Amino acid sequence: MTPIRVRFAPSPTGYLHIGGLRTALYDFLFARSYGGKCILRIEDTDKSREVKGAVEDLIETLQVLGIDFDESPIVGGDYAPYIQSERLPLYHQHANELLDKGHAYRCFCSSETLNQMREEQQAKGEFVKYDRRCVQLSPTEINEKLAAGTPHVIRLKMPDDYRFAFEDIIRGKVEMDAAQSDDQVIIKSDGFPTYHLAAVVDDHYMQISHVIRGEEWLSSTPKHIWLYRCLGWDAPKWVHLPLILNTDRSKLSKRMNDVSVESYLKKGYLKEALINFVALLGWHEADDKELYTLEELCQVFSLERVSKAGAVFDLTKLDWMNGHYLRSLPLETIAERAKPYFEGVPLRDEKQYMAIVAAGRERVQVLPALAEYAQPFLNPKALGDAEIELLGTEAAQKVLKYFAEHLPTTDINDAEAVNAMAKDGINQLGIKGKHFYTPLRLALLGESHGPDLPSTFQIIGVEESLNRFAKCRM
Ligand code: GLU
Repeated sequence: MTPIRVRFAPSPTGYLHIGGLRTALYDFLFARSYGGKCILRIEDTDKSREVKGAVEDLIETLQVLGIDFDESPIVGGDYAPYIQSERLPLYHQHANELLDKGHAYRCFCSSETLNQMREEQQAKGEFVKYDRRCVQLSPTEINEKLAAGTPHVIRLKMPDDYRFAFEDIIRGKVEMDAAQSDDQVIIKSDGFPTYHLAAVVDDHYMQISHVIRGEEWLSSTPKHIWLYRCLGWDAPKWVHLPLILNTDRSKLSKRMNDVSVESYLKKGYLKEALINFVALLGWHEADDKELYTLEELCQVFSLERVSKAGAVFDLTKLDWMNGHYLRSLPLETIAERAKPYFEGVPLRDEKQYMAIVAAGRERVQVLPALAEYAQPFLNPKALGDAEIELLGTEAAQKVLKYFAEHLPTTDINDAEAVNAMAKDGINQLGIKGKHFYTPLRLALLGESHGPDLPSTFQIIGVEESLNRFAKCRM
């Protein structure tokens, strides 16, 4: 069996897209589950779209998420370099080979000529494609144009009457007519290869066994298959992942959703939740299990269980998963990750911080919400008229007096002791339910709901709780 070798091949045009993360993750999981190799290759042949720093950001984001590569521009590997702009001679070598074999030709048409051609074809309702007028050029004409330095591209000559049929691991047999394929440019006028030539040459030299990529590349596959054939190489196996959709089933877009992975991390989503959520965008196990760690995914993932139907990007599910990981990861981990969001928040000490995180993570979905959750503990909310009136009632005052007297002798770190003290209060005062707890919480937090009593006292502390009671006693 040929060894499993897959590659994630992003173009450094900005942030890492959710769809890109899904491809990288499936590459990684597939390689891990078969003991194969996962490769990162940077496809930077379109210099006009390149964003400075994008490669570094992308590598860092993937690393943060736990996706690492066996071969990459950073760790190197037997097939280096892994950055396409450093492999230009190889693409030229094969473009020349295609020219020599008659599978490619030089095209000197200007953009004006091409625009006019397109308009004429559109007006006639024809399929828009290059009409091959440069195929007729004689060697003398070509040499003259080359000598004059006329800008030109190299195009791949696609077959005329041909039906491409190939197996896709997710879709089964796929068929496409060559008539629907233009004579693709393989070397641009700036001397850089296009994605099509560079990807095929690299996938061949890097011995890629499976090309895993989004469905939007499906229509390019015949061109790639043709390139393999013209160069006399075996094609890899094809795997086209389903589209990711907005909830209205249109293609996932910036218009309706945030699509940048970095921005989800910045918003305080946990890497565990993001990985789990993105893994389920098109893949699921036989049962309806939904919660997986990255390690578990490495064990159970298979391409056979990726569906070809579009996968809906449902933010409420991501929120739910994030809430799950917020509550189930070790408290120290969450406290560590929440730290940056507490910058400038006037905390008493580390103990108070841990108590806030412990109580808050039961109630919020994302990390920054923990800092918001902390606010009334640090600074009670201002009371409204109705609340002030309620606190002035005889029953409320009795409750506050009871706590002011009993809190100093109760160990607030002993939840049972705090609860027992409250229960005694209910019995002694004959005040129960909301008549007992509402005044207490209003005095402590300025709002009528909050976490359990032991946590509330632990966060606020005895001294400050007594201060707050004193302020509300009349
Ligand atoms: N460079 C392409 C992209 O940006 C890669 C497509 C492929 O995986 O073949 O998505």
